Amino acid sequence: MLTVKGVVLTQKPVGEQDKFIDILTDELGVLEVLVKGAGKISSKSGCATQLFAYSAFCLHRGKRGYILDSVSPIRIFYSLRDSLTAVALASYFSQVVQFSVLPQASNREIQRLFLNCLHFLAEKQYPESMLKSIFELRMSALLGFMPDVVMCRSCGAYLPETLLFSVEEGSFCCKACAGSAENGIEMPAAVLQAVRHIVLQDMERIFSFRLHEDCMKILCMFAEQFLQYHFDHRFSALDYYRAVCRPLDEQN
Ligand SMILES: [Zn+2]
Repeated sequence: MLTVKGVVLTQKPVGEQDKFIDILTDELGVLEVLVKGAGKISSKSGCATQLFAYSAFCLHRGKRGYILDSVSPIRIFYSLRDSLTAVALASYFSQVVQFSVLPQASNREIQRLFLNCLHFLAEKQYPESMLKSIFELRMSALLGFMPDVVMCRSCGAYLPETLLFSVEEGSFCCKACAGSAENGIEMPAAVLQAVRHIVLQDMERIFSFRLHEDCMKILCMFAEQFLQYHFDHRFSALDYYRAVCRPLDEQN
């Protein structure tokens, strides 16, 4: 018998009544768990085993894997479901977690980041684009892809007015130092400060910064490219998120 606190990342039905769920635990990586009788409407485990639910799971090991004995919800992010884009973004976060978390590893910080992002997504306290960038950059840093945010790699300037940040090299160079061969995403100092904040601050403070809309767009582009390049993987949920955002972008 095993008790773990975990967030449901994916679910897939098996047969008429049962389903498999993948949960992100704090200590044991991602576990696949069989939930019996999930299809029954009276199922007590219903809401606690839903997608993105954070619950305490009691499990036992069956012949082919873990089977759910009992479960109690800790936090259900009900209001996530009010928004198609929020659900799509949460699915992208899930896919990234599932792709990168190693089994049996301690994932406390990753679980915390994921839960915080779900919380703010559900509460609509911050723009989705900001939450997406925070998740992408902090997740990259937690997995060892830490951008070098200290200073210009050529002259050592701490806060140049404009700079070029290379996604591939994970470091930056001020515009004045950059030769014509230099490439990277051009950003003002404010965006560099936001990147520093996201990768260096304590977890409870990473959401507390503000950026002008134009700067937020640059941060978004940088964060998305940075994760995609270093994880070397195309996430289908990201394509889906973009597709559901498109009609909304066109309205604006
Ligand atoms: Zn420089």
